[in-house]
Amino acid sequence: MNMREQIEKEYGGSCACGKAHEVILEDIRIGSHILDEIPDLVRKHGSKVFMISDRNTWNAAGKDVAAILEKDGILAGS
Ligand SMILES: [Zn+2]
Repeated sequence: MNMREQIEKEYGGSCACGKAHEVILEDIRIGSHILDEIPDLVRKHGSKVFMISDRNTWNAAGKDVAAILEKDGILAGS
């Protein structure tokens, strides 16, 4: 099972709310110095971004991602 299948299986399926949810991942990027690829990825899959982070993920990379998306005109405010 590759990482995509593993994540879709882990986070999809039956839920405590009584519904079945489906998780479809179209892209996964893992690596160093890849944040600058994000604007092209967003355009590849559409143009809307809903960004969620907690304090830890915001500090680790979220603020950098938001800055990149704002600079590229994709994300307006955060
Ligand atoms: Zn649910």
